[in-house]
Amino acid sequence: SHPITKLRPLEQSEKLQNVCYEIRGPVHEHAARLESEGHRIMKLNIGNPALFGFEAPDVIMRDMIHALPFSQGYSESAGVLSARRAVVTRYETVPDFPYFDVDDVLLGNGVSELITMTMQALLNNGDEVLIPAPDYPLWTAMTALSGGNAVHYQCDEDNGWNPSIEDIESKITERTKALVVINPNNPTGAVYSREVLEKMVDVARRHSLLILADEIYDKILYDDAEHISIATLAPDLLVLTFNGLSKAYRVCGYRAGWVVRTGPKDHAKGFIEGMTILASTRLCANVPAQHAIQVALGGYQSIDALTMPGGRLYEQRNVTWNKLNEIPGVSCVKPMGALYAFPRLDPEVYQIHDDERFVQDLLLQEKILVVQGSGFNLPDTNHFRIVTLPWAQDLAEAIERIGNFLSSYRQ
Ligand code: PLP
Repeated sequence: SHPITKLRPLEQSEKLQNVCYEIRGPVHEHAARLESEGHRIMKLNIGNPALFGFEAPDVIMRDMIHALPFSQGYSESAGVLSARRAVVTRYETVPDFPYFDVDDVLLGNGVSELITMTMQALLNNGDEVLIPAPDYPLWTAMTALSGGNAVHYQCDEDNGWNPSIEDIESKITERTKALVVINPNNPTGAVYSREVLEKMVDVARRHSLLILADEIYDKILYDDAEHISIATLAPDLLVLTFNGLSKAYRVCGYRAGWVVRTGPKDHAKGFIEGMTILASTRLCANVPAQHAIQVALGGYQSIDALTMPGGRLYEQRNVTWNKLNEIPGVSCVKPMGALYAFPRLDPEVYQIHDDERFVQDLLLQEKILVVQGSGFNLPDTNHFRIVTLPWAQDLAEAIERIGNFLSSYRQ
């Protein structure tokens, strides 16, 4: 028999102290337990199109299968050349997008990995990064993991969730290094106008900030929304633009993303070298998924048919928005892009002191899983996020059940 050895407790590292990612947080685990007990959970918490019958375009899968025999080895750390070239070509058709070449493209295992690498390469302890509130929480989490301080700027719900330029300006200090812009926005669905983006660029210009533009939803637009890449307005600034195949091409499981650098680089040689070092330490991104990039970006863009009137995503966005606003005491700004709605619960009608508990109670009673607003670094407890991916009828039914739940909910 083996000796009984007394083992030292293993705690998580102190680096993780301020690292939160509630989208897959404790409530998510709770849901997994309910599922293992046989309950059917309506998962309105994660932007995973594959869960709701969205299929990736056939050509992507066929091309990836074709590439498998040639994808056995590591690729260059920056990514396979044909895929990086396809990324360059993609932006050539974006009006006014500043010139860049294949050396300015880095491929990663999804945008997530590239966000992590960027923050690790950029931040010293105590450096500050301006991040929207609400945000896609990975930006805040990776800033914290890298020793930085996430400083949240407000987006104004009464003004279509547009960023408050005054708030951004007021939060700049000597230690501010970068401005994160998530457009179209997760979780709010806001798509920023040229005027708003120009004002953000102006702030970045005056304070010499690096612009980090998360544009993963740039092709998921509704009604007459127009997406403007912030890089097009800032050819004189270093801008990193992030994007990938997860959403518009519905292959989030393949893990394929890219970041492109535009604008001047001479002042940022050290930082760029840091990115190169980090890219080489992980050898390369998943090679079969890199091969999917070229075929995805060329040819027919199937996402357009889903977002135009009559398309699945368009109809689901409409049903979500209409049904949420029918619930007494609930209001929701109309999402103009992305895959989410971010409704507000009127605090005069619903006294929610702990929105994580609210989400948990909804899960237990209705078997519906959403994410609490505070999970997106919003300071209040009156919001939650719902994905607009299920079929319209399922969404309508789920939102009706949320309405029934709310009508008797007291904390
Ligand atoms: N950025 C935003 C705004 C997102 O919503 C997501 C995923 O939901 C990501 C980045 C991560 O995407 P990826 O699958 O490319 O890692």
